[in-house]
Order: sequence, then structure tokens, then C-alpha cells
Amino acid sequence: MNKLQYLKNYFGYSTFRRGQEALIDGIISGEDALGIMPTGGGKSLCYQLPAIMLEGTAVVISPLISLMKDQVDSLVESGIEATFINSTLSQGDILERLEGMRNGAYRLVYVAPERLGTAYFTRGLQQCKVSLVAIDEAHCISQWGHDFRPSYQDIPRFLNQFEQRPPVAAFTATATPKVTEEILTLLELRQPVIQKTGFDRPNLFYKVAAPGNKFRYLEQYLSGKEADESGIIYCSTRKTVESVTAKLRDKGYSALGYHGGMDSAVRKSVQEDFMFDRVPLIVATNAFGMGIDKSDVRFVIHYNMPQNMEAYYQEAGRAGRDGLESECVLMYSASDIVSQKMLIENNMTSEDRRRMLNENLQYLINYCHSDNCLRYMITDYFGEAHERTSAGEKCGNCSTCLDESEKRDVTVEAQKILSCIYRTNQRFGMNLIIRVLRGSSEKRVLQFGLDKQTTYGIMKDASPGEIREIIMSLIAEGYLRMTTDTYPVLKLLGPARSVLKGERKITVKVERLKRGKSKEAKKRKHKVKAIGFENVDYDEKLFEKLSGMRGQIASEKGLPSYTVFHNAALLEMSALYPTTEEEFLKIGGVGQKKLENYGGLFMDEVKKHLSAQGIDETVRLEKRKMIEAQIEKAIENAPDDTSASNLSEKPKNEPMSERISTTYSIYKEGHSIKQIAQKRGFTTGTIIKHLVKAHEKELTVDWKLLIDEDKCKCIFEAIEVVGLESLKRIKDLVPEDIDYDAIRIAIEIYKQDSL
Ligand code: ADP
Ligand code: MG
Repeated sequence: MNKLQYLKNYFGYSTFRRGQEALIDGIISGEDALGIMPTGGGKSLCYQLPAIMLEGTAVVISPLISLMKDQVDSLVESGIEATFINSTLSQGDILERLEGMRNGAYRLVYVAPERLGTAYFTRGLQQCKVSLVAIDEAHCISQWGHDFRPSYQDIPRFLNQFEQRPPVAAFTATATPKVTEEILTLLELRQPVIQKTGFDRPNLFYKVAAPGNKFRYLEQYLSGKEADESGIIYCSTRKTVESVTAKLRDKGYSALGYHGGMDSAVRKSVQEDFMFDRVPLIVATNAFGMGIDKSDVRFVIHYNMPQNMEAYYQEAGRAGRDGLESECVLMYSASDIVSQKMLIENNMTSEDRRRMLNENLQYLINYCHSDNCLRYMITDYFGEAHERTSAGEKCGNCSTCLDESEKRDVTVEAQKILSCIYRTNQRFGMNLIIRVLRGSSEKRVLQFGLDKQTTYGIMKDASPGEIREIIMSLIAEGYLRMTTDTYPVLKLLGPARSVLKGERKITVKVERLKRGKSKEAKKRKHKVKAIGFENVDYDEKLFEKLSGMRGQIASEKGLPSYTVFHNAALLEMSALYPTTEEEFLKIGGVGQKKLENYGGLFMDEVKKHLSAQGIDETVRLEKRKMIEAQIEKAIENAPDDTSASNLSEKPKNEPMSERISTTYSIYKEGHSIKQIAQKRGFTTGTIIKHLVKAHEKELTVDWKLLIDEDKCKCIFEAIEVVGLESLKRIKDLVPEDIDYDAIRIAIEIYKQDSL
């Protein structure tokens, strides 16, 4: 029989999959082999087929005891003599199987790596002919892999015991160069046949989504599916698994949760319910999957971003093993990125390994932000892209390629950003770069003399959100990177040069730029309200008139006057003279309803006032411009806090300077923030504000003593993602035990020693 006949006869297939034949040929002719193929790529066949063709017994080293039995059962089912030896067996059984092995009763023997060190096993082996040693999940030998097993490092010693070393074949789905390198050197493979292939899965549709409300998105997604379609929803924590499962069941979905904290009997029954189609939906942590060989999983959804591309692809790859159309949806949010970074930060491991983990994570972050073909991104990561697609080509089966939304050429903006980073010597983070580009007069900008830079203020008209989106794209496309230090810094990468030289065009989805802008607008509305127009010149006469009108409307309707408009809104109107609907809508506190009810009246009053004062349209627009500038400035100088508790704290007769110095002297006595707050009858937030003011007046405050270092780092991570503009957005990203006070303090530290 030739190998194709064996293939048909024992496995029922007529053709090989990509990569299989070369590996099998190599092994059969006595060579070593290394097969790197994705989950479901068909690695087992690469050693099982030679095992039945060669004389003797193949030893298969596999890390998963739970899988051995299944694999052996299915081999036996196909008429291939096979067995396993592991700790689930009694001593009697083990001896019996060893005896069988010596008599050549098996074509394959599966063992766990721990078994290799035991004397009776190696003695048993010496008395039989070993046709080949296959090492499954070979990445477990590498410290750089995602699931390092110390016992794998005993394999080389085991291999050296053979008088005549049989061919050694290693298999893995992990494809980073570092891991490959370690597999080759640690296993001492001898000029192996290497096949790295099959990472493209044409039947899988890839999609990335960053929904505002993940659960709603999930629900919508599921509502478009048939009730009996199988799907896995991966979450990053046990808690999320439980809450998503509960919410789905609440909505009437047939879903079960699965995670490592559950009783093993329960886990087993959940797994079986899924395998036997009794339950279509599984919500699980990454504990679910090793050994799930269900071929008709129609979709795999990631509710959170996993730790890297390897992990993502392994999990997503559980969809569509039967070759039918299936979907892989990755949902992510900024907080997923932060929590993954925190996990790495808290990982008790070497600096080198942390860097590697960060790099691997970064690729997945890029995948989430890229406007490239997602299939290209994946196959490129696994070193296969050049064979299939090029960066510009469309695969036609991923969310980027099917996306017909409009793109904008931002090459010029990108050049400005890159040159700003270059000219400031690649020493600053995203937030400061944005400020320099927008010509901010924020303290740190001036402190570092960045206002003297030629790139200072060259993007005055762009919003921070827009610039942020462009920077994120530049990172995603490999023109920039963000360092993983405590203070992440933007650095240029090689390809940035071709952008600066105008050799490469950069485009960003219009929708994405808009998203950046609208976030900005919302934030700004909030802020304008918060600064209370203290520092802005408004038209007092107009204010009087408007508030008179408000009083009239209110009393006619029998309502308190603030329900018509807040003072802040009237102040803003009397500073900005809105006369068009668009302008009126921009006023804080004005929504569609208010516009309909009162817009006409109030704008008429503004117009009347303008003509009475002899202010024509040109002057009006100029005034508006001037006020806008004042507002911008006030926003920049406003404390980074918009929470109500701290805004309403004017009354108290003590002048500000005294309030600050009293607080400061109590601080100097060594009291905690809480204690000071109690003594002074202020909130802790206010005390921190006093200290900030004191610090600005050159009184020393040692902020670092007021906060736990780990918390501080965590907050810095969040700041780099969402900026300094909103405490709330930072709060959303950090663990719950970090409160607003800690964030305020961390912000001070961040601002001071940003280098
Ligand atoms: P891996 O170990 O790479 O994750 P497996 O070896 O478990 O993948 O194979 C995945 C599936 O592909 C199995 O159901 C297997 O029977 C099937 N398979 C392997 N080789 C072929 C082939 N040449 N043709 C068709 N199906 C194959
Ligand atoms: Mg396998």
C-alpha cells in the first residue's frame, strides 16, 4: 500500500491538507520534522500515518491526559492498535501495557511528558523498536510559549537515551519566531523538514467590533442566528462568564457557563451538553476548548480581547472545523486593553518575557484597530501572508474587506504627527503630543519648552479625538509604537520615513474620525458647564434679558425656572450669541426638545439684542470666535474634574488662599487626605484640589506617598488610553477598588514627572 491508500483506508480521506504530505514524507524517510499548523489543521495525521506505515511503535508525547483516551479510542475505532500510559491507570494496567509495548502490540503509545523520567518506562522502551517520537503541542517546551510545561524540558534527555535515535517530529500551533527557535534548539532537531502552513481558513469570516454596549451587541448578533446553531462566547473572567450567562438565560437563550472555578463534574456535563447539541451556546473562559473537537461550531465570539493573537486564533479557530461558513467576532474595548496590560504588568516574570508578552498583545491591539484585511493580518502574523494575500488585496470575507464605508486621506495629518514626534525626540506620550500639535498652553507643554517647536500648533483645527484616532491607526499599521514603560512614549518605526517622504498614503475611516470628534464634543459640553463661565466674558445685558424671559415662561407654565434652562445655559447663550439652530444646539443643556420649545424665542431675543447693540454678523462671528478661544483656554486650565460634589463648594467665607494654606499646614502635620477632609469639613476631592493649588504655588506635596504604586501604574495605563480629560473615563478602565481620589492623585504625579 502507498501512503494515499493508507490515508483512504485508515482515515477515509483522499487528499492531504496543506503541509501534511511533506512532513509525512520526511518522517517516513527517517528525517526529523517540525509542523506548525493552526488548531484543526490536521497535525495528528502527520505522525499517525507514518506510525502505521513504519515498522515498530511510535511514542507520542502529549500534554493532555484528558485527550489521550479520546484519541486512542478513535484510532482503535479506525483499526489502528494504540494505547496510552498515564497516571489515570492502575499500576497493574500500566505493567500490562508496557508488556504489550515490548511485544510490539501497538503502533502508537501516547504518554504524558512526566512519564519519560520513570525508569520502568524507559527500560520498557529499550526492549522495543521505536519507529518515531512525536511531540504534540511542542511549544510547551518554550518559556516564551503561552503554556510552558517544565516537564517538557525533560524530553531532550529522554531522546538522548536511545542508542539509535529514531526520527523526532514536533508539532505546534504556536508560530512566533522565538518559540520556533526554542523548539528547534531545545529538542535538538536534526535538519528537520519544516512546514509552517495552513493558517488561512477561508471558511471563517472575521470581524472586529468595538460596541458601546457589548451585551446589547451580543444580543443583536444572536437574534440573527438560528436557535440551534452552536456557538462559543469567550469572556476573560469567571465573573463575566457568570453574568453574561445569566443575562442570556434571562432573555430566553439556551446557554450554559463554563469556567475553571466550576466543579469538574459540572464542567464535564456542560461540555457534553454542548458536544451532543443539547445546548447551543456556551459562555466560557479560555478553560473551555482544549479537546473540544465539535466540528459544527458556527460562531466564536470574543466578549473580551484575549491576551494575544496566538490565543485568539486558537480559540476563534474552533469555529467551522467542518469547513462550512462560520464566523469569528472579536469585541474589544479600551478597558480590555488595559486589563490585559495590567495582567502582564503583574506577571511575576522576567523583564524580557514581559516585553515579549507586550509585543504579542500589541499585535492583537493592532488587529483591532487596523483598516487592513483581517485575514491578511492573521496570516501575516503566522508568517504565511505573502503566499496568499498582499496588504492591499481584499479577501472578501472579513469585516474590513466588506466594509464600504468612506475613507479619508489623512497623509498630511499623519506627516504632521510623525514629524512632531520626531522633533520632540520621541520622548513623549500620546496626550502631550496631541497638546503640542494643537498648540495648547498647558503647563507641561510650556515647562518642556514644547511651544518653541516648529510643529507647535500645526493641527489647531483638529480635535484631540481626531488626532488620537489617527495616532491609533499609525500604531496599528506599524508606523509608530507605544513603549510599555510606566510612562508610555510614542516612537517612530522604520516605515514612518516613507510616510514623511510622501511615498505612502494613509487613510482612515471617516466614521472613525467622526467617532473621535463626537466623543470630544460630548466631553466639551460637559466641561463648559463645569467651568461655569467664570473666566469667560459674557454679555451681562443679554443675560438679564434672557433670564427675564426664562422667568416669564417658567411662571406661565408653573415650573421652577431651572427646568426651562440652567443658568449655565443662559450664560453660554449670552456669551456666544447663537442665532442658528446649529449654534443653539451646541449650548450645554440644549437638546432637540428644548430647541423646539424655546429655541425660536431665545434666538429672537438674541437677534433683537444684537441689532439694538449694532452688532452685525461679522462682529458677531468674531465675538464668537474670541469667546470660543476663551472657553478652550478655560477648559484647559479647569481642574480635571467634573463631578458635581466639588463644583458646589463656593460658600464658606474663608478666602481661597487661606483655605489652601490651612489645608496645606494640616497636610504638613502628616495627616492623611481623609483625616484632613474630616478636620476641614470638605470632601477629600476638595482637599486634593487644595493641595494641587498649594503645589502650584511651589509648596511641596509628595504625591507619591499618598498612593499605592501599583494603583498608580494602573491609572497611568488608563490615562494613556483615554487621556486626561475625563476622570470618569479613566475610572471606567481601572479596577473597582481604585477610587476617584486615587485617580486625582495619580494625575498629579503623571503631570509632574511625565518623563
Ligand atoms: P490539530 O491537531 O492540528 O489541531 P487534528 O489533527 O485534530 O488537528 O485534525 C483536525 C481535523 O481535521 C480532524 O477531524 C481530522 O480528522 C481532520 N483531518 C486531518 N487531515 C485531514 C485530511 N487530509 N483531509 C480531511 N480531513 C483531515
Ligand atoms: Mg492536535
